[in-house]
Parts: sequence; structure tokens; C-alpha cells
Amino acid sequence: MEKTAKLKLVLVIVSVSALSIMFITEYRRRRRQKRPRSSCYLRNDPKLQFSFKRVLADNSYSAFKHFKTSDSTDDVGAERTSNLHPYEAEITALMVNPKLELELLSEEFGLEMSESYVWVETELQLKELAAALSKERVFAVDTEQHSLRSFLGFTALIQVSTQKEDYLVDTIALHDYMGQLRPVFTDPSISKVFHGADNDVLWLQRDFHIYVVNLFDTAKACEVLLKPQKSLAYLLETYCGVTTNKLLQREDWRQRPLSMEMVQYARTDAHYLLYIANCLIAEMEQENENSSPDDKFRFVLEASRRSNMACLQLYAKEIEASPGESAASSIFSRHLNGQGAISSASSEFQDVVRRLCAWRDLMARVHDESLRYALSDHAIAAIADKVPTTSKDLLSTVAQADLNADSSSSLPSPSPVVISHLDDLYYLLQDKIGNSDDIFPMILQNCLGSSGSCRLSIFNYALLVNSNLKLTLVSKQNMVKNSKQVARKASRDLFVQKFSCKSPVYHNCRIYAYDGRLLCYCDQKKLEWYLRRDLAKVVDENPPAIMLLFEPKGRPEDEDNDFYIQILLCVDCHEVAHAAAEKHKKQVAEDFGVPLFVRKVVDAEEAGIISGSSESAKCNEAGVSPLQLRTAAMALLRHGPRMPSKRREELTEIVMRYFGGREITEEDLERALLVGMSPHEIRRLERKKGLAFKHSKGSLPPDAEQKKNTSTETSVVPDLSAVNSSDAKVERFSRKEDSEFFMVKDVGTPSLHRDSGIDETPSAVVENNLTSDRSGVSDANNVSGVNADDNSDNGSPPNGKADNYYAKNDGIAYPKHKSKLSLLGHGPHGKQVVDYLLKEYGDDSIRQFCQRWRQVFVEAVHPRFLPAGWDITHSGRRDFGEFSVHNPSHKASRGTKT
Ligand code: AMP
Ligand code: MN
Ligand code: ZN
Repeated sequence: MEKTAKLKLVLVIVSVSALSIMFITEYRRRRRQKRPRSSCYLRNDPKLQFSFKRVLADNSYSAFKHFKTSDSTDDVGAERTSNLHPYEAEITALMVNPKLELELLSEEFGLEMSESYVWVETELQLKELAAALSKERVFAVDTEQHSLRSFLGFTALIQVSTQKEDYLVDTIALHDYMGQLRPVFTDPSISKVFHGADNDVLWLQRDFHIYVVNLFDTAKACEVLLKPQKSLAYLLETYCGVTTNKLLQREDWRQRPLSMEMVQYARTDAHYLLYIANCLIAEMEQENENSSPDDKFRFVLEASRRSNMACLQLYAKEIEASPGESAASSIFSRHLNGQGAISSASSEFQDVVRRLCAWRDLMARVHDESLRYALSDHAIAAIADKVPTTSKDLLSTVAQADLNADSSSSLPSPSPVVISHLDDLYYLLQDKIGNSDDIFPMILQNCLGSSGSCRLSIFNYALLVNSNLKLTLVSKQNMVKNSKQVARKASRDLFVQKFSCKSPVYHNCRIYAYDGRLLCYCDQKKLEWYLRRDLAKVVDENPPAIMLLFEPKGRPEDEDNDFYIQILLCVDCHEVAHAAAEKHKKQVAEDFGVPLFVRKVVDAEEAGIISGSSESAKCNEAGVSPLQLRTAAMALLRHGPRMPSKRREELTEIVMRYFGGREITEEDLERALLVGMSPHEIRRLERKKGLAFKHSKGSLPPDAEQKKNTSTETSVVPDLSAVNSSDAKVERFSRKEDSEFFMVKDVGTPSLHRDSGIDETPSAVVENNLTSDRSGVSDANNVSGVNADDNSDNGSPPNGKADNYYAKNDGIAYPKHKSKLSLLGHGPHGKQVVDYLLKEYGDDSIRQFCQRWRQVFVEAVHPRFLPAGWDITHSGRRDFGEFSVHNPSHKASRGTKT
């Protein structure tokens, strides 16, 4: 009996604790997940700065990257940023030997401000401004910032004045293009006059990577001259008799159009600077004359030195060991002002202030707001003083604190940030036991995670991206096995050379969807493709990353398949995967009876003789391997006359075999060289040879060719479509025993390729899609069906004519008629296998085929982590995206533009 009672008690305790654990877990899970999307105020009220496409300083905790002047422009995609001053040498040179052009001010330089000024808001106007300024010896500059509704602040206006004109540059409209002014600002032969430039210099770096070289700061001149004041208002009054209302500097400079007063204020800040600088320089020279004739320019030199010194500053984001730390300290000291030491503040007060400061810091970054807009210091102190017990109480504490501090403030209190995220804030205050290291990542996920409450923007994106990336990359490390490392080094080096030398940055660029999901890795060209079409924004510079501005079709979530994310491999794993893929390719070749390489080719003119002949022995004599053919032709063209005659005969014989054994000419050699080349290779050859390349002509008139085409078609197995290499028409022979035999017709000329608008996409692209060469995975080279393999700037479809391609399951696109496959690669092999599978077993076999490739990959690499949803047996379809050049609805309009 007693036993039963005890047992009952234990059961009750166990189930109660189990229930409460379940309850708490469930509660937290709901807090995290069941957040209505519309809860954040920015969802309905996007900000002006969200239209910026290139933001250099985002709100993440990562360091600011400076511009890097690059003389080696050939390494595209190489590191373009650094943490050194890109114009340090130019500026230091000026400090030793200043160049001041102010005495050149023309006699008739009028002090008055005219009615007219130039409002610069288009790219063209900006270009014109840059051109106009490049002809000036000196111009004056001032900038206006907006800082209330932005975390780091941004330049809202730049005023530039020359002797003739006042320009107001709308740096919101032109935000992404302001780099146009970099050359004039960095030109040491053009003086720039600012007043109190210390901040402007940094702001220009932060927003536009604009660096000021050759500055004359009128405030520094005042210092040198020991003026009683050095404010601009003072100088304006003293030298120009102009009064200005400095209260306007706190206006909201985002507004458009600017009010009359604001225009007047902005112009005034720059317009008189040239004149004032001129006066100050004259005074400084005067001073010098009075002292000693030796150093006539001592004062001017000093003012110039101090000015240029300010230009050597480098913008940096404030990075704190723990976010909000410095704000918390300043609140402690202010709160305790006159009340004793910081340590006397209760530890709860300190703890709450720290939490609130950290929360405010994160929230301000997420929403791109200033700290003071998100939550004031007063409000933080008030909350920490007496921690509210309900969320309603929390709101009124904030409102009251702000009212007490400044009853005339026009800022909303509590701010929309607090109101939108009241739950989190309240939770943060209640959760005394929790470690804030855990809370903040969770809050970030609540806000910006895949079903987060807040709007993703170019400013907050990297907060998420960087944390994501960490997870992604960490899992790829520690895969190198120590003992094998040395033995592998040689092959690794070879591998690196093989794959990474072709293009310096290989697939290290990231493409993210608008909600923060990593879609894939790709190369720089693809990023540029999206950016040129305004389809994406740059979210990270190094390594580059973009965020798509449209909702891509065929996204993982769309069909519950989290699949089309390329798997990033380290070099060693890549090598393993590659080896396995090569092995599997050989197996496939055997299984399907499709040889990996084209064994033999023969010129079409001679093919008639061969195919007409019944002796297969003759075929063997006549054909030649494409590689052998090319090597022989190349050697003969280059070194023919200087070769030992025996060697020359051997090589000539090889080429003759291609031409069915007949005598060959120089022109034949050139034709032979082109056999099996992809258009890309042909153009490369053409470039290498210069434009003097002698074109060989197709030997048959179009009519005859047509006839021949159809007549040979009858002798070719109808299901095997011709594999075309460049314009050379290659046909597979009908007879089984000749399955390794190709016939080449009408080798095209290089210029033809250019005219026909076939793109320059390296053959490897197609090869990849066909054989999954890179990693053995049918990887998503085409993000969400938008093909970005376009190298041309004319907007024509990336892969040449759109109708040359059609899609199959799993996003494999492959050529129907024109091929960019080189006969020397595995391209034709891949195509033949796919054709064969389709014909014999239908669509489903392709799916199985792809799955097998994935299996080969997994078996070879044994990845410990794969993207969520990545699955060997995955078989989701992918549709073409809205912007895809393969999207049938675009074919009519885009396909014709060649
Ligand atoms: P200014 O060139 O003097 O008009 O100042 C340039 C920018 O600095 C202004 O657009 C403001 O954003 C900022 N600024 C300067 N002084 C203040 C101030 N006292 N309060 C707020 N913002 C200021
Ligand atoms: Mn100003
Ligand atoms: Zn929000």
C-alpha cells in the first residue's frame, strides 16, 4: 500500500515536471515561430535608403572595407578592398609639398550668390559635373547628413561650388553612382576647400569610397591664424557679411524637394568658401612677410599640412567587444552622477542596462535606425531603475522618461521599434536566468530568420549572412587527414592549378534570396549579370555576395525541396569528388556504349568515299583522333618548314588521314586546326593570333551542303542528333562498329561566330550541366532558373539563341542544335548519354541518372553535413524564373535579338 502511494507520488512528480518542461519548450518554440509577419513597422513603411543598391558600410558587426586602387586590373574579382588608405602616398606627398591654386581666383569672381544653381540628380548630370570639375583647379565642398533614421548615417546632399556655379548633388538619388566623383576628389592637382572637413572626409569614405586628396580646410587656417573663432558662421559674417541660420543643419536632409531655406543654407555653406579661403591665404602670407622672408609660406604650409592630415583619417565602424557596451557605461556614469561610484549601482540595474543597450544596438541595426530613435538613454535608465512588471507598464515607463527628458521633442515615444518588438523586449527583462549570448541570436532569428518579423534590407542583411556563413563554412573544415596530407600535396597543387587558374575567383561569390537564404555559389560574372539588370543588390564585397531583388522561381521552399544549393567543397574534397566523378563517367561510358572521347574524325568531303565504302578497314585508315589532328596541324603550321623532314611527313600523314588520304594544303591545315574546337576556343585562338587569322572557307556552296546534309542524314541513325562542334557539323556514323567515328563538315570561320552572336560561355559550362563535372552533383548553375552565364553586354540571352536549348527535369539545360561542346572534352559524351537515356527510357531515367551521380558524390566524399533537404533521391522539377532567358514567354522578345 505504501509502495503504491510512493509510486503514485513519483509518477505525479515526473509527469508534472515533464508537463512543465513541455510547456516551457512549447512556449519558447511559439515565441520563436508563431510570429505574425506583419508585426514590424517597417513592413508597411519601407525606408528611403532601402533603394540603395551598393552599400559600403552596412549595419553588421564586420569591419568597414576601404577602397583599393588597383593597377592590376586583370585580376578581376581579386581583393578589391583593404584597410589601408588608398591615397596615402598622394596625401603625404602634398604634406611635404602643398599645391594650392587659390591665388588663381579670377579678378571678377563675384561674391554674390546668383538665383540659379544646378540640381544634380541623374547619372548623366553627375557625369557632366565630374567632367566640369576635372577642368577646375579648385572647388569648394560641403555635405549634409541624415542620421536620425539610419544606424550609421548617410550623406543626403553634397554641395559643390566652383567660381562659376553652385551644384547641389542629390546623393540619395545618386547613391550608387557617386564613385563617379572619386577621380576629381582624389586628383592631387585639384584643390578642395572645405570648412571643418574632419567629418565630411569620413562620411565620403563611408558612403562612396570617395577620398579627399589636396584639401584646404578653412577651419584649420583659422587655427593657424589664431582667429578668435573658427566657425563657418563667424567667417561668413566677417568676410562676406552674410548671416546663416545654423539651426538648419539639423533639418531632415532626406526631404525632397528641399525647402527654399534649406537650399539657401546648403548653397551658403559651400558658395563662399573659395572666397574665404582666398582671404585666409592672403592673411597667412601677410603674416609670414611680417616675420621672416625665409619662410614666406610657413603658415600656408602649416594650414595645408593640418588639412591633409585630416584626409589621412580612415573611416571605421565602431566595433565593441560586446554590443552596446560603451552606451551602457555612459548611462552608468550619467545615472550615478554625484551619487557615488559605478560599483555602487545595483548589479541588477547594471545587468538590465547592459541587456537593454545590447537589444537596442541590435534592433537599431536590424531596422537601420539611430540608437536614440530606437530607445533613448533616459528610457533605458528609467526601465533599469524600476523594472516594469507588465508590457503596458514598460510602454508607459518609456514614454514618461522621454517626456521628462525633453518635452519638446518631436520623436515618437515609445518608438515604433519598441512597439513592434515589445514582446521581445519584455521577454528580455523577465528572462533573468538566461544568458544573453543565447538570447540575442534568437532575437535576430525572430527578426530576420526565414519567417522573421522584420524586413530584410541591404543594411541588416550581413547580420544574418555572416552568421549563416559561419555555420556553412565551419562544417567544411577539419576534413583534411593528417597522414595523407603530404602525399597528396603534389596532386592537390595540380588540382588547384587545373581548376583555379582558369578564373582567379572560382565560385566564391554567393547569391542570397531576399529572405536570407543562401541560394548558391557562383562566379563574379554571374553576379555582374544580375547587377547590370537591376535584379540584385550587393550585400558583401569580399568575398562578393548579392541579394536577389525578386522572388526566384523554383526556390527550395516552393516545392519543399531544399536542394539547389551548391555544395562548397574545399580543394581536397573537390579532388576526391572529381576523381570519383571521372571514374563514374568511365563506367557510364562502358554501360551505355558511349565512348568518352571522340576517337576519330574525318572530313565530310572525303566521308562520302568512306561511308560509301563497305570495307571498314578503310575507315580505320582514314579517321584520326581529334587531339592528334589538332596537335599535328598546329605543329605543322608553326614549325613545319623547320622540322626534320621525317617528323614533318609523319604529321602530314596524320592530317591527310583526316582528309581521306588526299594531298593537303596550308588552308587544309588551318581548317584541321579548328576541328573540334568550341567557338570559345576558336575565338581564343583568334585573339592569340591577332586579327590576321586567315579564314578558311567552307568548301561547298550552301545548296550543295544542304543536299549533302539531307543525304547523309539518311545514312545516320535518325535518333542520334548531330553533335556540332562550333560550325563544324559532326555526324556520328550509322554503323555500330563505327560508333567512335565522327564526320566533320564545313568547319566555320572565326568571324562567323562573332557575327552569329554565339556567346563566349566556356564549354565547361555545358559540360558541367551534362556531366556534373565539378563535384559530381547536378549543381545549380542556374539559380532559380535565371541563367546568368551571359558575358555580353548587349542583353542577348546568355547562351546564344534561346531556342537552342530546352529544359529537362532537374534544371539541366542542354543544346538542341548548336553546341558549344568541344570535341576534345567530355561534352559530346554527356550529350550522347542523355540523348540515349531519353530515347530508350524516357524522362524518368534522367532522374535516376542524376540521382546516381549524387550517390557517387556522397559515397566518395562522405559529407558529414549537407544542406537541409539535400537528398540523393530528390526529384523536384524546376521551372524557369521570371527573368530566365529560357522562360518560353521571353523567347519571342529576346530570342530574336542576336
Ligand atoms: P554643416 O555642414 O555644418 O551643415 O553640417 C553637416 C551635417 O552635420 C549636417 O547635415 C548634420 O547632419 C550634421 N550636424 C552638424 N552639426 C550638428 C548638430 N549640432 N546637431 C546635429 N547634426 C549636426
Ligand atoms: Mn553644411
Ligand atoms: Zn522589426
